[in-house]
Amino acid sequence: MSPVSRSATEPVHNLRQEIAELAALPQVQAALDWFAEQEAEFTRWQLELAGIPAPPFGEAKRAEWLRAKFNEIGLEQVHTDEVGNVLGVLSGSAMPAISISAHVDTVFPAGIVVNPRQQGRKLYGPGISDNAAGVTALLALALGCRRFRPPHAASLLFVANVGEEGEGDLRGIRHIFSECEWKDRIGASLVIDGAGIDTIIADALGSRRFAITVQGPGGHSWTDFGAPNPIVAISRAITLFSEIRVPASPKTTFNVGVISGGTSVNSIPESASMRVDIRSSSAFEIERLELELRSAVKQAVQREDNGTDRGESAERELETVIKVIGNRPAGELDRKSRILQLARAVDSYLGNSAQLQRASTDANIPISLGREAIAIGAGGRGGGAHTLQEWFDPAGRELGLQRALLLVLALAAGDSNGVTG
Ligand SMILES: [Zn+2]
Repeated sequence: MSPVSRSATEPVHNLRQEIAELAALPQVQAALDWFAEQEAEFTRWQLELAGIPAPPFGEAKRAEWLRAKFNEIGLEQVHTDEVGNVLGVLSGSAMPAISISAHVDTVFPAGIVVNPRQQGRKLYGPGISDNAAGVTALLALALGCRRFRPPHAASLLFVANVGEEGEGDLRGIRHIFSECEWKDRIGASLVIDGAGIDTIIADALGSRRFAITVQGPGGHSWTDFGAPNPIVAISRAITLFSEIRVPASPKTTFNVGVISGGTSVNSIPESASMRVDIRSSSAFEIERLELELRSAVKQAVQREDNGTDRGESAERELETVIKVIGNRPAGELDRKSRILQLARAVDSYLGNSAQLQRASTDANIPISLGREAIAIGAGGRGGGAHTLQEWFDPAGRELGLQRALLLVLALAAGDSNGVTG
């Protein structure tokens, strides 16, 4: 435990009072109680949702199901946008809006058998927790707000977004903050991802990923000896790049995860490639490592082009293609931001203790833009994320839903701090 200064606890104390008053409103109280009563229905939704495959870039079927659900719940302005996100609104009188989102895609490729099922209390199936639990929470919050009409000055924007996982590269939420009509009208964002109530993700772990291919004329290993060799160039680039130093703090990492190239032992290869992953909590370090990587590749290729002891290769040069296959911006939420203070106050009110964490989620986008955003879990417990053995235990889910609802309503309440001003 790190010591907490008086000035840091004071506002939480006042805000906790605000949360207590909010929770005591009859409509809010009714919604909070209703979550536990509805568990059987939430479980049904979750199993049905997880039964619709949603591989990266193949979320349309699941989005269709969600659009019908949004309409059934009675959200306004329900529509699917250009990239496949499903949006729905509960209008308020004040702007900016509060966005509540959950990603609908899974890491699992098309063609795997999803077969979600309940055994005893637990639910099993790929994606059942990440992020069928989050999407179920999104629906539960929307229905709770629609049904009990708790007060919210700000409009609530519900987003079931595509493209969070892997090479989806946050494209769904990126679209919301770059192209969507709501992009400048979102004051704070709550991202619901996975299970649990014990974390608040307030810092965005950035990453940048590259596919690097070096191509050459190739040739016969005996008669064309001396022609530049893409595998040698890539290997040398790896050696050069892997010698660079990275700081322990801000934590910065790199990985060459895949290499490939060549066709036979007696052919000079025509092509070689590698995939590289760079991560850091610091946007500066990510930039620096990218420059180092590009410089290592350039040096390695030049050296191979300039000819070696194997002979000259003046006219037969190598070509390099560096493709960015992933780019998730890093960032840190201001510790004094209202969303974080309210989340702390809600946890204090509920008697919940949560750790601040850094992770790569949809919240990376708003956080990197300097907007207020956090990611939290949907309640319950989960495990085996990104494996076929994934599970979710709904026991205590209502606490996660209560936590999310109180936070959303507090953010949407309208306040002198300007969140909805
Ligand atoms: Zn997720």
